[in-house]
Amino acid sequence: MKYISTRGNHESLSFSDVVLSGLARDGGLYMPEQFPQIGDKLEAWSKLSYQALALEIMKLYADDIPEADLLAIVNKSYETFDSADVTPSCAVGDVRILELWHGPTLAFKDVALQFLGNLFDYLLTKRDERLTVVAATSGDTGSAAIQGVRGKSRVDIFVMHPHGRVSPLQELQMTTVLDDNVHNFAVEGSFDDAQNIVKALFNDLAFRDEYHLGAMNSINWARILAQVVYYFYAAFRAQDAGAQSIRFAVPTGNFGDIFAGYVAAQMGLPIKQLILATNENDILTRFFATGIYEPGAAMPTTSPSMDIQVASNFERYLYCRAGRDGQQVAQWMATFAQERRLVPNVKENHPVNDPMMVAKRIDVDAVAQTIRHYDSVYGYTLDPHTAIGVAAAEQIGTTVEHPVICLATANPAKFPATVVAATGGTEPTHPILEALKGAPARVEVIAADAELLKQIVRKTLA
Ligand SMILES: *Cc1c(COP(=O)(O)O)cnc(C)c1O
Repeated sequence: MKYISTRGNHESLSFSDVVLSGLARDGGLYMPEQFPQIGDKLEAWSKLSYQALALEIMKLYADDIPEADLLAIVNKSYETFDSADVTPSCAVGDVRILELWHGPTLAFKDVALQFLGNLFDYLLTKRDERLTVVAATSGDTGSAAIQGVRGKSRVDIFVMHPHGRVSPLQELQMTTVLDDNVHNFAVEGSFDDAQNIVKALFNDLAFRDEYHLGAMNSINWARILAQVVYYFYAAFRAQDAGAQSIRFAVPTGNFGDIFAGYVAAQMGLPIKQLILATNENDILTRFFATGIYEPGAAMPTTSPSMDIQVASNFERYLYCRAGRDGQQVAQWMATFAQERRLVPNVKENHPVNDPMMVAKRIDVDAVAQTIRHYDSVYGYTLDPHTAIGVAAAEQIGTTVEHPVICLATANPAKFPATVVAATGGTEPTHPILEALKGAPARVEVIAADAELLKQIVRKTLA
């Protein structure tokens, strides 16, 4: 399988090269040249374990890695999960809940980042290379990326979070990891300031090459790939329970998770609908309603991991909808960069007219109401992100034969204040989080200055 940029330059890379380079040099995102069609494999795949299914799907995309090695990476990645199913699902009321939070940081990002960390380790060892990961986080990504690469001798990770603006638990999940290759920074500024530092380092191509910068955010194709697996696995489990059609509700921020569902559908998994659920930061909901892609004012909500203005993976979706016309996408992205507004319009393939996508905006009151309802009626505690997908599913309607599978993206114990405010009950807890309280931590407060971070990277890696 070869990979190409969504912006149409002529570079064509292997899977391994794409994993290690992250963003394409023309600023686009890497995509496989085509989506492999699974044809008549569905029946056989439906009987596989999570790990065996992951191997079948991943080997179609990672065909430059020997199968036995790929299986070893998969097995190692999901040993850290506390469920034999890795991503178990169950019926709760009228929806199915797909629990994606059984990994070490209790959020769905572990599913991809445990895999990516082990994949980095494998590829770098084989090539005798090192990698420097630079990341900005508003919460969940940082800790999941750190857990993915902690202790790996060929990777250094520099993670920036906005000083005082992530939850105390989320901060502890990052700063209590004391491995030598983990470097935490609290930036005096916002998440966007931290993100701009990451961009500045990537845009300095000489620096990027010298320190071999790598990406662990969802622009990295390996993350999308790892997430495709649970769409298949959860669809099979729903079918085991009598489902005749399959829909998913996906709490969406950067469009990474839902794009993995789109890929599963393009490969041949019969997904009837993908319900895109956002909070008040609703650029995507507005796009699917109006065809206009335009950031609104940033609004802090009770689902901080979805407080996103511009969804980086949306470009991959536009590329597919534009009939894989990279020139067109490059033009769109240039327009968007200049005008902060985009009305993508491909005549017979208009991006808005996608029968598979349904978009819903769920506000903080509906989130609280949904958490309260599921807690009191079903005794099941939803985290605020998951509640957004569940609320959207309920608006659309769901039955055993025609279920909505709701992606549960975090364990409720990560967001105790919001849950307690909604239920009026006791705080949800988790032993992993309890163990962090009072643990020794390490973090450096720095100014929001790209040159300063470059200096720190140079000094640390000298
Ligand atoms: C990252 C995250 C999301 C959003 O996922 P995207 O791939 O960015 O759309 C939703 N919920 C939680 C808990 C997250 O950490």
